[in-house]
Amino acid sequence: MSATIIDGKAHAARLRERIAVQAAAFAGAAGRAAGLAVVLVGEDPASAVYVRSKGKATIAAGMESFEHRLPADTDQAALIALVDRLNADPAVDGILVQLPLPAHLDADAILTRIDSDKDVDGFHPVNVGRLMLGLPGLVPCTPYGCLLLLQDVLGDLTGLDAVVVGRSNIVGKPMAALLTAASATVTIAHSRTRDLAAVVRRADIVVAAVGRAQMIPGDWIKPGATVIDVGINRTDAGLVGDVDFASAVEVAGAITPVPGGVGPMTIACLLRNTVVAAARREGVPLDM
Ligand code: NDP
Repeated sequence: MSATIIDGKAHAARLRERIAVQAAAFAGAAGRAAGLAVVLVGEDPASAVYVRSKGKATIAAGMESFEHRLPADTDQAALIALVDRLNADPAVDGILVQLPLPAHLDADAILTRIDSDKDVDGFHPVNVGRLMLGLPGLVPCTPYGCLLLLQDVLGDLTGLDAVVVGRSNIVGKPMAALLTAASATVTIAHSRTRDLAAVVRRADIVVAAVGRAQMIPGDWIKPGATVIDVGINRTDAGLVGDVDFASAVEVAGAITPVPGGVGPMTIACLLRNTVVAAARREGVPLDM
């Protein structure tokens, strides 16, 4: 039997429609559109594509987009000065500094400089702390998008065995925190995990966030499990995930494709965080 393919594009389109309704309600109540500032340093082509699509999606959702493109040799002080200006700008509700930054810049110092109430990426230590404590905050977009997909497919996640492969600060760790908050029983696996195959085999939910092409074969997947593949790997055969889709689709109950699975949800969740941040800053209630 073949798995249900989770259509991330369709999920994201529905989420963006709901966000547009909330963005319009915010604009009506606040007398201005919610605003997202995106900062790109340097010429990395993949980053340039992401920044362009974030800007387009922001405008399509009825929000204002402010793009700041800085040369690759921008120094730390200049970038900090821009972040400070955006922190102080009342028209800016969300600030996103596109990663990776050129190697001479201290990314941690920049991300910590962003006002935590405008930190729509959810990477500021204050938002990481809020997530761990179960307090309202801004949650990293990619793992939040994965959680929404899982809840759409499975409903209540209580008691399910979830294995997150990968422990990065931007995907693996916040994913594990969100699944724990949703009452799943969570295992975090990584490069030092012993017998990864056996760990993955007991999972009702597998979230793969490694960055190694097709490293999880179908025979590691428990029959009927739900598989969320975060990996984006460029190969000669095109973009592939961390899961071997062709074999996993024969065993899983539901699975995300790459591309067209998690990726579209990430941008939709960024828009959601922007309208949520705007509403909190202005004290406007939202229905989402
Ligand atoms: P990182 O490189 O920061 O983290 C990778 C994690 O995988 C690490 O925790 C590492 O373990 C673990 N790992 C590496 N090799 C193995 C192995 N052989 N077995 C088990 N675990 C292993 O990556 P990110 O979290 O930033 O990204 C992961 C993937 O997700 C990438 O392909 C990235 O492109 C993609 N991505 C996709 C997004 C989207 O919107 N769809 C957004 C963000 C990322 P250790 O800690 O021990 O080194």
